[in-house]
Amino acid sequence: MSRQVATDFPPQGDDIAVVAAQLGRRPRNVHAVAHRCPCGNPDVIETEPRLADGTPFPTLFYLTCPRLAHAVSGLEASGLMREMTNRLAEDVALARGYRRAHERYLERREALGAVPELAGVSAGGMPSRVKCLHVLVAQALAAGEGVNPLGDETLTRLAPWWEQGRCVVAEGASRPHPLTGEPFVSPVPPGQGWPGDPATRATPVAVDAPSVRSAAETASLPELTASMSVCRACPRLVNWRETVAIEKRRSYEHEPYWGRPIAGWGDTRPAVVIVGLAPAAHGGNRTGRIFTGDRSGDWLFASLHRVGLATLPTSVHAGDGQRLLHTRMVAAVRCAPPGNKPTVAERDTCTPWLQAEIGIVLGSVRCFVALGSYAWDVLLRVLRVLGADVPTPRPRFGHGVSVLVAMPGRPPVPVLGSYHPSQQNTFTGKLTEAMLDDMLLRARRLAAVGTVTSHSADRATAPPDSTPP
Ligand code: SF4
Repeated sequence: MSRQVATDFPPQGDDIAVVAAQLGRRPRNVHAVAHRCPCGNPDVIETEPRLADGTPFPTLFYLTCPRLAHAVSGLEASGLMREMTNRLAEDVALARGYRRAHERYLERREALGAVPELAGVSAGGMPSRVKCLHVLVAQALAAGEGVNPLGDETLTRLAPWWEQGRCVVAEGASRPHPLTGEPFVSPVPPGQGWPGDPATRATPVAVDAPSVRSAAETASLPELTASMSVCRACPRLVNWRETVAIEKRRSYEHEPYWGRPIAGWGDTRPAVVIVGLAPAAHGGNRTGRIFTGDRSGDWLFASLHRVGLATLPTSVHAGDGQRLLHTRMVAAVRCAPPGNKPTVAERDTCTPWLQAEIGIVLGSVRCFVALGSYAWDVLLRVLRVLGADVPTPRPRFGHGVSVLVAMPGRPPVPVLGSYHPSQQNTFTGKLTEAMLDDMLLRARRLAAVGTVTSHSADRATAPPDSTPP
């Protein structure tokens, strides 16, 4: 990649709008584009040392590319800064080079204007500690190779972030969230305030099947949902979800698209777990929440509300106040697939996320509902891996089919099959509202969740609680 010394390129054309889209806010007092990514977008800006409101601003070089910033956060989370600080105490040549980088930083900033309050203070922990790799990388990119040894070293540890294409594509790329009004670029970088975003800029990113397995094995539920929401292990699906997020459907062109994997959502100690196939390209992939913002979700949430498992009859946007009651919703595959068809390899790569999530919540679960044959097969396979005694051969899927799955050390758990509330099924009458209500009410009763609400009782013809699943 380009490592040109580029400390004084005035912003041109759409640069400020692109940086605003990258940061999710308008940048303040940009003096120059200090480095440009090989994709053409600015990735480091140089900021005046005193802002327009008079505030002293020590951070001369600032990383703007969300992909690069996220990758650097991953290295920070790995403990690299502590290890570098230790080396500075032992390696005289390294310490000398780092101090020289500090001096170069001060020289450059003072060239833009004297700010007495900042005298002798650079950034990132320089000259004796490492407190922010973003600062060091930004200086290394802006000033060129050989200026900041630890910034140079950090860059060698990063995968080429520009190879995924532009992080934002054009002037005005950010769009306001339909509920909060906050601007977001599409896809949404982690940790920028999207309602319900489980990840931060420091959440480690799984990039292949082994790293998915490793991240899923060790995580708590919050860590798991965060990790799966930034996963990039399936190149075809990553490309698809992000292309859809950038190109958008015309009717949603004024909205930001989430464009990331969809984490499980709902009760953290659920009695009922509902398993679907994968997020819809313009539904969950747009709103960031499973079954939210598409026609399948309209059906599903209306039914969940009727049977008393959701607080609202609609689920339109993350942050809309919808809550699942005693229920958790997960997808077998967490990224929107082209044609709703993940490959076998993609399914297998993604299964550890589902397996880990079900493994964590399993203790409280008293009924599973699989929406469609794909979810049915994946769920039974996962339960078997988790130690359940799933009958052999595996029971065939059908609407209303149920199987009792023996679990070690606890009562068997019923697994119910329901047709998926896709338009293919609901438009043709293959699945009616009453049929879906029946299944979800049955799940609720098998899970012994509360009492049946009046608004559900007149719609659903449910079997008695003692009916075997
Ligand atoms: S489908 Fe699953 S494993 Fe593949 S990128 Fe998406 S979240 Fe990661």
